[in-house]
Amino acid sequence: MDKILLRNTDIPRSETIGVYLAQGGYKALPKALEHTPAELITMMKKSKLRGRGGAGFPSGLKWGFMPQDSPLPKYVCVNTDEGEPGTFKDRELVEKDPHQIIEGTIIASYAVGANRAYVYIRGEFFLGVKRWIKAIDDAYAHGFLGKNILNSGFDLDLSVHRGAGAYICGEETAMIESLEGKRGEPRLKPPYPAEFGLFGCPTLVHNVETLANVPHIVLNGPEWYASIGTEKSTGPKIFCVSGHVKRRGTYELPLGTPLREIIYEYAGGVVDDREIKAVIPGGASTPVLTREHLDINMDFESLEAAGSMLGTGAIMVLHDGTCMVDVAHRLMRFFAHESCGHCTPCRVGTVRMLEILERLEHGKGRAGDIETLQGLADSLLGKTLCPMGDAAVNPIRSGIQHFREEYEYHIRHRECLV
Ligand code: SF4
Repeated sequence: MDKILLRNTDIPRSETIGVYLAQGGYKALPKALEHTPAELITMMKKSKLRGRGGAGFPSGLKWGFMPQDSPLPKYVCVNTDEGEPGTFKDRELVEKDPHQIIEGTIIASYAVGANRAYVYIRGEFFLGVKRWIKAIDDAYAHGFLGKNILNSGFDLDLSVHRGAGAYICGEETAMIESLEGKRGEPRLKPPYPAEFGLFGCPTLVHNVETLANVPHIVLNGPEWYASIGTEKSTGPKIFCVSGHVKRRGTYELPLGTPLREIIYEYAGGVVDDREIKAVIPGGASTPVLTREHLDINMDFESLEAAGSMLGTGAIMVLHDGTCMVDVAHRLMRFFAHESCGHCTPCRVGTVRMLEILERLEHGKGRAGDIETLQGLADSLLGKTLCPMGDAAVNPIRSGIQHFREEYEYHIRHRECLV
């Protein structure tokens, strides 16, 4: 498959509007403006595009949930708060091809009737912030943003809001709270943002990679888009491959590409040609897979059937010299730090699990620690306000399920099995 989303990123100065226009950019926008919003929503539904931020919700449905007759203003939020460990695709898109996302944002805003859009970006993405601001300025200068865009009668303003680097602000309702100037904590759902979002108004929140797909769907048609990937997981996906591979990086491939092919053909195989022990297939919050799963296809359904998730498509490869207790410990340190503290099972449970994993790692494990970890994991699963509770226990539950002997060895021998 030729690159679609990353097609410009190897071109020098690909972040500039000159390069984007020279490569055929902003051609989808006038085409979109010839359609009615309802036609664009139908187009999006036909493409079967699913959100690329982790949840995989159908984008066309999300657009369709935005009320057409509401007297309230509507908003679109571009979620650039990429913070899932192992994930670095949105940052690449923003730093190297921001106009592609802007074009997708304008089309999405027109389709849902929003005249105001916000970019919410992690505060640490300094270059990304600069690139966003410059790209937005240039889009205004060329008449792609502002009043009466391309003489269509449609107005849209877009601006950038920097977050302060909290993982939880990647969750759409926490991001909305933060955008409103409040502490970034998730809201109870329902109501969903399409009904009660930013400033209490209907709001469409999309991840950067999701929006980058939109101009291509408009230009080439939903049937073309749906022909890429699998029947239920359509389109291209940017996989971020990291860990013990020879060539870490981003690889744009059709959804459904086998995991083995991504690791061995694209990422060059495992460092020192060692055996794979485990793979975290979709970012830190997705359950661990083993080498027995290498022939799985990287799409939403196949990973779910295997007991994991596609998540953000961040594939972390771990070779046979890796201690899985150490992996769980590192991941829990992240989740305990990033818990927003709103609900007790997550606030207390992550810290308690971290304490146990720390003891295990330092040769001070006790009989019963594995059962206590499992009990704490059970007390979080499905019992928290936002999905981070489940995310935090995924490495523990799947780790113990697949590598229990490593935990037992830590307790008995006070050191790693590997
Ligand atoms: Fe906050 Fe954790 Fe509760 Fe999510 S699950 S709301 S991160 S305390």
